[in-house]
Amino acid sequence: MEDHPDTDIDVTADVAVEVAPATENGFATLGLRDELLEALEGLGYEEPTPIQRETIPHLLEGKDLVGQAATGTGKTAAFALPALALIKGAPKSGPLALILTPTRELAMQVSEAFFRYGKDLGAKCVPVYGGTPIFRQLQQLDRGVHIVVGTPGRVLDHIGRGSLPLDSIKMVVLDEADEMLDMGFADDIESILESIPAEHQTVMFSATMPPRINAIAKRHLHDPVRINVVRGDTKASKGKVRQIAYIVPRAHKPAALGRVLDIESPGGALVFCRTRTEVDQLTETMNIRGYRAEALHGGMDQGQRDRVMNRLRDGTAELLVATDVAARGLDVDTLTHVVNYDVPSAPESYVHRIGRVGRAGREGVAITLAEPREQRLLKNIEHLTKQVIAIEKVPSIADLRAAQLEQTVAAIRESLAADDLDDFHPVLHALRAEADPRSVALAAIRLYHEAAGNTVDEHEIPDVQARPERKFEPREQSRTRESGGTPQAGTAFIYVGVGRKAGIRPNDLVGAIANETGLTGREIGPIRITDSYSVVGVPEGRLDTVIGQLKNTVIRGKAAQVRKYVDNGPSKGYEGKKPYEKKTYGDKKPYEGKKPYAKKTY
Ligand code: AMP
Repeated sequence: MEDHPDTDIDVTADVAVEVAPATENGFATLGLRDELLEALEGLGYEEPTPIQRETIPHLLEGKDLVGQAATGTGKTAAFALPALALIKGAPKSGPLALILTPTRELAMQVSEAFFRYGKDLGAKCVPVYGGTPIFRQLQQLDRGVHIVVGTPGRVLDHIGRGSLPLDSIKMVVLDEADEMLDMGFADDIESILESIPAEHQTVMFSATMPPRINAIAKRHLHDPVRINVVRGDTKASKGKVRQIAYIVPRAHKPAALGRVLDIESPGGALVFCRTRTEVDQLTETMNIRGYRAEALHGGMDQGQRDRVMNRLRDGTAELLVATDVAARGLDVDTLTHVVNYDVPSAPESYVHRIGRVGRAGREGVAITLAEPREQRLLKNIEHLTKQVIAIEKVPSIADLRAAQLEQTVAAIRESLAADDLDDFHPVLHALRAEADPRSVALAAIRLYHEAAGNTVDEHEIPDVQARPERKFEPREQSRTRESGGTPQAGTAFIYVGVGRKAGIRPNDLVGAIANETGLTGREIGPIRITDSYSVVGVPEGRLDTVIGQLKNTVIRGKAAQVRKYVDNGPSKGYEGKKPYEKKTYGDKKPYEGKKPYAKKTY
């Protein structure tokens, strides 16, 4: 997490690293009702994440709260569980809780979380966002809901139409508040907060705490509890651990893990997952891929765990897939690799996990698979551990082939060094009339290579580029919207075939582009909207990918043609001047720490 000396946030809660023993579900102590505890048990959550542990008790008491937490820390459950705790029976006249999110994608994700956690309570949650026809949302709201999750613009639309009554609201949550402000939603948020009449609880979650967030907190929150879980004890061990991360979309994670392990060829690896369910699924997937993988989680009794540990120690198992709780204190000499299948929800947990390798001065490797949205968590970890995590490209099929051939060379070299080859003379002798020794050698190499399980799947894993480091700047310095203002160095422009006549506003464009491409609000812009089309700046290196991703996009209910913007002079409505001047911000740097992929054999 970046430091923000200009904020007046108090750190009122430090992270406790010690957690409840593995046998007892850590959620039980937070005061959550049974239906929610059962749902969490069913999802395989073993213990609350730090942000959950620190915020849930306050939120259940009805306090206002400002929480500093990024995606991946478990912040959604931190507010969703207390919001669900408000439910009493079937929905009545209006919703009990309103959650505001910056993007459609996040609105959907959050409402799915409500559905998962609130199943046993019969929770009704409706996501409302722009870019799609309003009719279905009206119907759903009309049928009665407990929770509404939406983007500010569309929520205001509904309030204006009277389809979203606000008088029964007990809790309002601003999720990713800094991102919403970056996307220009400040006025919408103010209007929404001002329209909510009854006494209610207001909660803000934000990855950064710029002064503008505090200004909203001052105006709209009453004596808020402030929680920041990013500052804990994070002294990383001094061992020689190579720390690398790959940025991989969720759907490609199993393949990426397989590819990386195929290349790294670990002596023994411990793979961490967030939930028991994930542990079981990933163990199965890795076994199908030909790894001898074993699961280890808090749902297993001591005897089962001991057996698994022994199989890892004696080499019968090469991968152990585990939750944090189950792997606590685990000390196995043969481990060479620790893999974070997800970025851990707190830096402490990262430090704790990678401490399983590099013990007693040995070398080790810590690999983290991060989703594009989770890069901020990686930065937090780097910042707090003061160690670099190198972001590397996911190995390509060609890289994998090369590594496999290298492993075969190493195996044959070893076999040559052994002096017990004489037994095989008869084989060579029998073949001498049919083939020269070179061909025989090649055939034998192929047999070995294939028998060693060196198959190659044929799909490349998409390379998601690392995002430029996101640094908070005051509004005036961030890119101007709809002004033809000052783009960052390395900005390219796309033409979007909808404009003012279709009712397009800058937020519609930012929202749609952020949703489809994973770019942040900050990376999008400047924006110029004419009557019939719009021109939007995007990072130059992403131009082609972004155009591809926006191919079938619908903005405000209109299918929009998207292509590279070519400045054709006055006839295109720019009065002969170049739309944007290039200007470099002194403190903006491209993402650092990206190293080319390097192979290593163990
Ligand atoms: P979030 O930060 O809310 O985006 O959550 C990140 C991920 O962590 C989601 O996939 C959640 O399902 C998962 N998650 C949240 N809380 C827990 C927990 N206590 N234990 C395991 N996984 C969790």
